[in-house]
Amino acid sequence: MTRIGVLALQGDVREHEAALVRLGAKPVRVRRRSELESVDGIIIPGGESTTIDTLLRAFDLFDPLRRRIMAGLPTLGTCAGMIMLATDIIGGIDGQRTLGAIDMTVRRNAFGRQVDSSEVELTWIPDGSAMHATFIRAPWVESWADGVEVLAKDEAHGGAVVAVRQGNAIATSFHCEISDDDRVHALLVALAA
Ligand code: GLN
Repeated sequence: MTRIGVLALQGDVREHEAALVRLGAKPVRVRRRSELESVDGIIIPGGESTTIDTLLRAFDLFDPLRRRIMAGLPTLGTCAGMIMLATDIIGGIDGQRTLGAIDMTVRRNAFGRQVDSSEVELTWIPDGSAMHATFIRAPWVESWADGVEVLAKDEAHGGAVVAVRQGNAIATSFHCEISDDDRVHALLVALAA
């Protein structure tokens, strides 16, 4: 059975676990190095990227996680997790670090701090069908390098890029775990299988 880790330092873990179970994968909570070493893929959930950064360092997981992702571990980052996967951040706090797995600049709280959350219909570019997406104080992708594939844009917000993939790493601005549409998780599980 494909073992998918869910980084469980902070943020929404249970919804990701439920999606993985629906897809027939085994969710594994990751808080220690040994757990990280045991998985075939990993999810960095939404939450607060500055806190996730701090806790990754406190748990001695920052460098081991970065090394595994750079070595090809299939990875999905949602919302704060998208920020963690970027090479660069606009609107980060002083000293905020990222894992740098996707050649992109993300803007934190891009939809405006006063816009707490919103729900929109996106087009999921890989198959051209609609996808219902929930955004919570979300980032968007401000710029990206040539090797980055755009998976979804938010036409309701000027065509903002809200889902991307580069090789083994996938990132979404929206919370793909808060729905019963498991297409994003299915992409991760397929990469990890
Ligand atoms: N605004 C948060 C951050 O900067 C992300 C919000 C979320 O993950 N729902 O980390």
